[in-house]
Amino acid sequence: MSYSLTTFFIFYFLATGCLFVQAAHQSQAPRQYSKADIEQIYNELRQSSFDDISEKSRLVFKKMKIFGMSSPVSLRIYINIDKINKYQWPEDAVTGLLAHELSHMVSYQRRSRLGGMFYLWNYSFSIAREKKVEREADEIAIERGYGKELVQERIYQFKGEDTRNIKKQNKIYYHPEDLEGMIDSMKSIRHMNKNE
Ligand SMILES: [Zn+2]
Repeated sequence: MSYSLTTFFIFYFLATGCLFVQAAHQSQAPRQYSKADIEQIYNELRQSSFDDISEKSRLVFKKMKIFGMSSPVSLRIYINIDKINKYQWPEDAVTGLLAHELSHMVSYQRRSRLGGMFYLWNYSFSIAREKKVEREADEIAIERGYGKELVQERIYQFKGEDTRNIKKQNKIYYHPEDLEGMIDSMKSIRHMNKNE
C-alpha cells in the first residue's frame, strides 16, 4: 500500500470513529417504559417547569390512535404508553410529548372555562383551529426550555402516524425543522437582550 493511501485510511478510520462517538452521544437509546417510568418524567416536569398548572390535572394511560392528548374539561393528560413502546421512543421524545401536553394545560388555563371551550370549538373539524391550538402548545413548551425534546417528539410522532393521517398531521403540526428555527431565533433574542 502506498504511503498516501495508508495515510488516507488512517484519517478515514479516525474520522468515522469520531462520527460514531458523536452519534452515540447525540441520540438516546430507544427503551421500553413502565407506567411508573412515564409518571416519573411527568412529575419531574410538573415540579420543575409546569408548577403553575392546576392541582386537579392528572396523568392517565389510555389506548387510542394517537400518542397523547389533553382535555380542558377533565384536566386529564392521556398518554398511550403501548404506542410509545411499540415505536421505541427515546426518553427525550417522551419528555417532549409530556411537555407538549402540559403546555396545552397552560394554554387552556390562560382562558376561562367558557373561553377554553370556545378556543377548542370546532377542533376536530377545522384544520385552521387545530393548527392554532397545537402550535400554541409547542410555543409554550419551547418558551419553557423543551425545544430540543420537542424536536425529537415530532420526529417520532410523524414516524408513528399511518399514511392516511400523515398528510393532515403535516398541515397541522410544526415540523422538526420549524421547531429548530424557532429555538435558534429564541436563542438569538436572549443573546441580544443579554448584550443590551
Ligand atoms: Zn397537542
